[in-house]
Amino acid sequence: MISFFSDFISLFFPNLCCACEESLHKNEEVICMLCLNSLPKTDFHLNKENPVAEIFWGKVQIHAATAYYYFNKGSKVQYLIHQLKYKGRREIGIFIGEQMGNELKQSEFFKNIDLIIPVPLHPKKERKRGYNQSEMFGLGLAKSLKIPLSSQFLVRKEFTDTQTKKSRSDRWKNVENVFAIKNQESLAGKHILLVDDVITTGSTLEACIRALSEIENVTISVSAIATGVGL
Ligand SMILES: [Zn+2]
Repeated sequence: MISFFSDFISLFFPNLCCACEESLHKNEEVICMLCLNSLPKTDFHLNKENPVAEIFWGKVQIHAATAYYYFNKGSKVQYLIHQLKYKGRREIGIFIGEQMGNELKQSEFFKNIDLIIPVPLHPKKERKRGYNQSEMFGLGLAKSLKIPLSSQFLVRKEFTDTQTKKSRSDRWKNVENVFAIKNQESLAGKHILLVDDVITTGSTLEACIRALSEIENVTISVSAIATGVGL
């Protein structure tokens, strides 16, 4: 399914590097080797006590947390994420997910994961964009780690007009409860890898983790494409 998808994509996109727009060599795909080797990796997956994990300390219970790249303004990482989110380049998410997955295999903290769950996009946004960029990243991770991905369990509630007319402070309270779990009994005892695009304050992830924590005996880890935390 995924390889069919990549073949399908390459029919429609010229073979240019998504980071520098130079031609790709025959053995390269999505991002050229020069760019790939220059992107700043955090290596947070090798250390359980890292700046991304620290965001969640004292707030929610997690097993391990990491982000693949550092996010700097004006950098190639920012450009790639912009292309992924706003220019329909979903193959960037899949490709980076595959690259990261190959490295997570070497980490003792990301072993025994049962299921990958992407942070849900607002349904309206996803309909407009046509896909969820975090799900694309998760698909790449799923492919290289050989772990299933599902978007069916963690959902973002769609608010009605009456709710959007509430006062600002009421809406703020709503943010904490925008995520819900479906069929949580079937996730009991599982180790879930929650995936997102960029980690900044971690508040969306925190709300997702709170929702997932309702699951009996669950273990939750976090992985993102990039973060500005720890720079
Ligand atoms: Zn390049």
